[in-house]
Amino acid sequence: MKVRISGVVKESIVDGPGIRFVVFAQGCKHGCPGCHNPQTHDFNGGNFVEADSIVEKILNTSNIDGVTFSGGDPFFQAEEFEYIAKKLKKKNLHILAYTGYLYEQIVRDEKMKKLLENVDVLVDGPFVKEAKTYKLAFRGSKNQRIINVNASIKKNQVITIDY
Ligand code: SF4
Repeated sequence: MKVRISGVVKESIVDGPGIRFVVFAQGCKHGCPGCHNPQTHDFNGGNFVEADSIVEKILNTSNIDGVTFSGGDPFFQAEEFEYIAKKLKKKNLHILAYTGYLYEQIVRDEKMKKLLENVDVLVDGPFVKEAKTYKLAFRGSKNQRIINVNASIKKNQVITIDY
């Protein structure tokens, strides 16, 4: 299984709680005006790498509290990131994923839902320039929600988390 990524960051403190290994997916069609990562939009860009090599790098990184899938948008490669997420969950790693989709769109799509089911926390929604903020943890704009995925699936409604 290969996955297209724009890069990785081994230790980030701004992409979720604690110290996190971040995998940046390559490819995004959301086209949010003011996007900070336009170099991640091209589905032919970045590097096409073995998913297992990313898993290995993550598992060989000590002192991380979790893993973040950012982008681009990992939900455009839902099967590939589901594959990675499942391997990480076996090692009890906490997973946070960013997406430009809304939670409600993801649960209606079979492939995206399978990835969601292997994620602990979802930060959803497009970046909205008019709602831009530096005050909220882990989000670029006020419309984005930090979602407790397990609780939301169980209750069949969006349950958010305050960080
Ligand atoms: S979803 Fe993220 S990467 Fe995609 S256009 Fe919007 S801000 Fe940029």
